[in-house]
Amino acid sequence: MLRTASDLTTLLHRLDGRGYKAYRDIQGRYSFPGFELSIDHVQGDPFAPPSRMRIAVPSAVAGFPEDLWAEPVRRMALADFLNRAFYQAIGQRDREISVYRPSQKVLERSSVIIDRGGVEVRFWVALPAGGRRIMGRRAAEILGRNLPDLVTGALTWSRTDQKAAYAHVESVEDQEALRNQLKGKKLVAFVADGSVLPRAGGDVDTPLTRSAGALPFVSPPSLAATLDTPNSGPVRGMGVPEGVCLIAGGGFHGKSTLLKALEQGVYDHLPGDGRERVVSREDTLKIRSEDGRAVTGVDISPFIGDLPGGRTTEAFTTANASGSTSQAAAIMEGLEAGAKVLLMDEDTSATNFMIRDKRMQQLVAREKEPITPFLDRVRELHRGFGVSTILVMGGCGDYFEAADLVIMMDEYRPLDVTARARDLAQELPTGRATEPAGPFRLPRPRKFKPRPFDASKGRREISIRALGVRGMLYGKSEVDLSGLEQLAEEGQTKAIGFLIHLFGREKSRDRGPAQGLAELLHKIGEQGLDPLSPWPAGDLALPRLLEAVQALNRMRSLEEATGNRT
Ligand code: ADP
Ligand code: MG
Repeated sequence: MLRTASDLTTLLHRLDGRGYKAYRDIQGRYSFPGFELSIDHVQGDPFAPPSRMRIAVPSAVAGFPEDLWAEPVRRMALADFLNRAFYQAIGQRDREISVYRPSQKVLERSSVIIDRGGVEVRFWVALPAGGRRIMGRRAAEILGRNLPDLVTGALTWSRTDQKAAYAHVESVEDQEALRNQLKGKKLVAFVADGSVLPRAGGDVDTPLTRSAGALPFVSPPSLAATLDTPNSGPVRGMGVPEGVCLIAGGGFHGKSTLLKALEQGVYDHLPGDGRERVVSREDTLKIRSEDGRAVTGVDISPFIGDLPGGRTTEAFTTANASGSTSQAAAIMEGLEAGAKVLLMDEDTSATNFMIRDKRMQQLVAREKEPITPFLDRVRELHRGFGVSTILVMGGCGDYFEAADLVIMMDEYRPLDVTARARDLAQELPTGRATEPAGPFRLPRPRKFKPRPFDASKGRREISIRALGVRGMLYGKSEVDLSGLEQLAEEGQTKAIGFLIHLFGREKSRDRGPAQGLAELLHKIGEQGLDPLSPWPAGDLALPRLLEAVQALNRMRSLEEATGNRT
């Protein structure tokens, strides 16, 4: 028989003052008035990760109207809303209770699960101790008294800010609709007029306020496009067409800020974020140089020819890539994974990968320079493979010929200066010779040996931990993800760890990283995140395929399976 809330309170009082290990006795399920509490895992000592618990509120009690969660997009948005509501309701009172903390993005997560049966929230409680003794009375106060308040306050429709809930869900639905129109209109990105792109600080993701000087976005007339939304009618803004787009402009005029917003436009944002109507296509990949990273078996020959000493680059492997080889590898790996829109910023690019001017071409003979600069490939990528590029470049005009569109940021305002840039390209030829290096070939899918996917550590068969958003402990090794600028939340990082672990199984691994991981993610799209983790985890968020593949590619111990290439 299910124990009751008062059973739990009685038990906790009885445990008061006993050794911490005795907390184990509370594991199990309890029926509370209006919800059920599952104590899934009890921590072994006060310093261990907090105890894992779940609350299930039946739909008759929760009472959220069906139109808020019947559609998958709306369900994701409502779950995000409730996650935030629960987070806020915990507030300062019960520091022992915690729940997943969402970023400015709205993602599919495992923290709140909504279905026909009701709402489930997964959370943690650091069970209180005095020294190594159980503080049973305090625990009873938290679980027996404060938790029911939390449930009523955050997880019932009658107590919800209903207007805010609808606004949240409708905004997310609109964002998905905007994003879904891009391809049909041959756009790669869209920035609605009125969007606020700058952030409040270098390390925060909240918007810069108007009073702090944020200038809202206004599209240049020539690039204005109008897209439809189901909940707010037509929305006007700047459409960035497929092809090669250059973002020029003086230093500090907002170039990188625009590119960052486009980079994050693969995700939905909270209403009020400022970027909730900035969308880019799902297959958009930020590319940057990342010297020092490992590269395993990547064909970078379209960009980097034979290296000194006659080393070929068709299956380039290194434990310590240079700026240019890392950027070339990032592009080839991205193409292997299906990226169709590349974003690059001069701030984070290797100069010798991006450009080589006439003088340098004269000084360094072609035979002595293995690099074919991106400039000589960018048009071919679009023409031959439908891969678009958006490039921030304030320091070099050699890209004018290659660009279909040149946007100039002028005091945070975008201007369409394409015609002027064309004229200048005619008036002032660069004099540089186009560097022929044979036709561009798309990379072949790679396959890997099983060993590096072993995630065990000591006695634990699977040990996977996120180190903040951009790092991961996978088994015994650390994976540096600092170059993955589009990775948004720690929950994604952790989910990627589990995904890679599943990928390591033979069947998936045999398909190569792009296809193998895509199939796994597809399954998660249908079944939710739970199959990833051995227990009901409250700290997972859905990653994109591109981040999962990038993470895998950064594992230092990868080894190509032999008999891979033909
Ligand atoms: P750039 O890449 O052109 O050198 P950044 O994009 O780094 O410039 O922007 C420079 C500064 O201007 C940043 O501090 C950024 O937050 C701020 N900024 C960018 N866009 C806006 C805007 N629309 N309104 C107000 N400040 C902005
Ligand atoms: Mg910049």
